[in-house]
Amino acid sequence: MTDARETDLLAKVPNGLFIGGVWRDATEGATLDVSDPSTGDVIKTIADASVADGTAALDAAVAAQDEWAATAPRTRSNILRKAFDLLQERREEFALLMTLEMGKPLAEANGEVTYGGEFLRWFSEEAVRISGRYGSNPEGTGMMTVSQHPVGPCFLITPWNFPLAMATRKIAPALAAGCTVVVKPAELTPLTTLYFVKLLEDAGLPAGVVNVITTSSSSAVSGPIIADPRLRKLSFTGSTAVGQKLIEQSAKNVLRTSMELGGNAPFVVFEDADLDKAVEGAMAAKFRNIGQACTAANRFIVHRDVADEFAKRVTDKVNAFRIGRGTEDGVTIGPLIDDRAVAKAKTLVGDAVERGAEVLIGGEAVDGPGTFFQPTVVTGVVPGSDILREEIFGPVLAIVPFDDEDEAVRLANDTEYGLVSYVFTTDLARGQRMIGRLQTGMMGLNVGVISNAAAPFGGVKQSGIGREGGLEGIHEYLYTKYTMTPIG
Ligand code: NAD
Repeated sequence: MTDARETDLLAKVPNGLFIGGVWRDATEGATLDVSDPSTGDVIKTIADASVADGTAALDAAVAAQDEWAATAPRTRSNILRKAFDLLQERREEFALLMTLEMGKPLAEANGEVTYGGEFLRWFSEEAVRISGRYGSNPEGTGMMTVSQHPVGPCFLITPWNFPLAMATRKIAPALAAGCTVVVKPAELTPLTTLYFVKLLEDAGLPAGVVNVITTSSSSAVSGPIIADPRLRKLSFTGSTAVGQKLIEQSAKNVLRTSMELGGNAPFVVFEDADLDKAVEGAMAAKFRNIGQACTAANRFIVHRDVADEFAKRVTDKVNAFRIGRGTEDGVTIGPLIDDRAVAKAKTLVGDAVERGAEVLIGGEAVDGPGTFFQPTVVTGVVPGSDILREEIFGPVLAIVPFDDEDEAVRLANDTEYGLVSYVFTTDLARGQRMIGRLQTGMMGLNVGVISNAAAPFGGVKQSGIGREGGLEGIHEYLYTKYTMTPIG
């Protein structure tokens, strides 16, 4: 059951597809239901796009491309800045909407409005700073000019875990660069994207520049868009398994891709760490978003001398958590996104225990309604356990002890992923060594939260290709052109 405020907000969210500046139904009126994971109740029914709708969205993006690329950078910048301002005005609505469709506690949803909004502000500033370089060739016979140009129509596919930030992190740089887009949000949390695209419309974005399709048939609808030779770029955030399939599909047209994929972050605590800081960092890196973040710490690799103390302190903190619907005051742990996520957390804990680990707190699903899993601490996890290999994507903190730095590095790098690593040490030289030794795209040194719109977010190994945010983020949507002009 939603209360009056929630019902009013949900009524304001569009339920159609947004194609060529028009909100409309899916062909044949197909619909899909969106549920609140804390109750299991359907909260809104929206359009369920077909293959034809997907093609129509790409048609609209292609039609708008030339004019948008020719629009003055200052105009593009102003629209993004206006969108940032509107988002601040509608902050509470966006936070509540994310809590309703995804489940995270309201305070965290508010944090996501801040984080997600910063991509609008950052790229509104970057839109007017796209520049190249020029110089003479070494022979002195020619002038070489290097310029940057929008890659063209883009297809953006986003996951359910950060419904706003994953959309703005792609849409803002694409628009700043002069690209038009088709956005496909996750079917589990499409409402935030729909409401955000309405905000872009209110900010004065011309028709066709951003098009949104919501669908329960992601694979069927996405395939023809990716295969279409008019598409110039695919940017995907989601699981490595789906990313691999999309890279294969992209090969046919040698499509440019950005892939923000899964993670299996190590969180290394050395014996010389400031344990207060390490515990504080651990709680943020593990339990933010109910553990459902690609940056979530997955493996706590803790020096044997401090492992028991660390385990005790994080268990005490977990004991103080409150589970519930994210809209309720004081709730710190919301539901997982669905039954499958609960089953996965349970199976991973079960496997770890079977191999010799000990559950210090939690470890069980919570009886319904809603898809809740108890925040959990497991210690003495044995190398080889599934929980160290797979993304947990749930509120389970798994501790593995180590004895020396080489072993810590070996354990940390023992994964096919390489998105983010956390290291806690008060030894500066050791911290510097770890920057060099860890196979990772990002690192938190004595800190548990690293995401920032001004920084290049992305991974190595099977965590992906490309970077979002920072100076690098806009270049994902630009191509480099070199021109030679003879001198004299
Ligand atoms: P997912 O791969 O199941 O889905 C992601 C998106 O792809 C959704 O929109 C989904 O509808 C769509 N999709 C699924 N199959 C598809 C197909 N065959 N063709 C086209 N689209 C398809 O991932 P998820 O469960 O939504 O998100 C969780 C995953 O995302 C985790 O692995 C997490 O680590 C990752 N993630 C990564 C980052 C990052 O920046 N690296 C950020 C957030 C989440």
